[in-house]
Amino acid sequence: MAKHKIAIIGLGKITQDQHLPVIDKSDDFEVAAVVSQRGLSHNGVPSFKTAADLYAAMPEIGIVSVNTPPDVRHAIAREALEAGKHVLLEKPPAATLAEFEDLKAFAAAKGKVLFATWHSQFNPAVDEAKALLAQHGVGSVKIEWREDVKKWHPGQEWIWEPGGFGVFDPGINALSIFVKILPFAPFVKAATLTYPENRQTPIAAKLTFGSAEASQPALTADFDWREQGDEKWHMTIETAAGHRLRLYKGGAALEVDGKLAVEALSEEYERIYAHFAQLLASGQSDVDGAPLRLVADAMLVGRRDVTEAFVW
Ligand code: NAP
Repeated sequence: MAKHKIAIIGLGKITQDQHLPVIDKSDDFEVAAVVSQRGLSHNGVPSFKTAADLYAAMPEIGIVSVNTPPDVRHAIAREALEAGKHVLLEKPPAATLAEFEDLKAFAAAKGKVLFATWHSQFNPAVDEAKALLAQHGVGSVKIEWREDVKKWHPGQEWIWEPGGFGVFDPGINALSIFVKILPFAPFVKAATLTYPENRQTPIAAKLTFGSAEASQPALTADFDWREQGDEKWHMTIETAAGHRLRLYKGGAALEVDGKLAVEALSEEYERIYAHFAQLLASGQSDVDGAPLRLVADAMLVGRRDVTEAFVW
């Protein structure tokens, strides 16, 4: 079968690190054009300054991937749906819940596929943790997602602006795993959000979750951008039956009772595009808003702390 022609909007870090190399190896997709404000290109395909220019010049491209910062994602995705395109959204899928609901409804009204990607969910170790928790029940989950913002987001000013998510930009990756592996829905009960005195978004957040489970498992998250040295992207989990799980390397590896159970090469984006091809074949959308809701709820109930100014 001919490959799907896809256009990439926004040629920043994640596009360069993942989308372009993964699509270049894909049997399902080929990059047919890009939209880059800075005028970047890829393998000589046409490059446009705006999506409107792309849609006018190459109407045969029916699919776009929106890899911009989140605050502009809604407007760009809506314009794409209006133009009759199927749309893949980088995470987080929008800056607000209402924008995300609007995109879901608009895609459905237009009969187009909308895929809100949560890349960290696409790991075999995450699938195995989910299966074990379904089998053995949940005793506790302790999330630690700590990294050095200067290493992972060098010079990205948008992360500090309203709609930029701050430390929830990586934190939402942990939450996307959390909601996938739990056999019940977690609620944010309390949060402490730590803001640098010169910034609009938090540099750290501590969350406590509840649930409707009678046993009230202990569920916590610790997100911090001030980590020095190696990043810590892991969860320590106890099942109700007493097994101890450690999901680490951002969800790529799982230990069960001290023994390595699953460690796969990170193929998150390969799996994302394979899933997108399936969605296109079936005409179904995949639009899970649960990780975004938890971030929004943390902002709703969060207590604000202020810390020293952040400078790059
Ligand atoms: P980035 O390096 O800042 O790249 C974003 C790109 O979007 C910019 O380089 C720019 O590319 C384009 N852009 C910026 N403002 C725009 C606007 N107002 N309108 C249209 N395009 C605009 O950021 P990133 O790290 O790639 O992150 C992008 C998204 O991917 C974020 O939502 C992030 O959470 C997610 N993500 C990032 C990572 C990661 O490791 N960095 C991992 C997974 C997911 P052009 O100049 O080419 O237009």
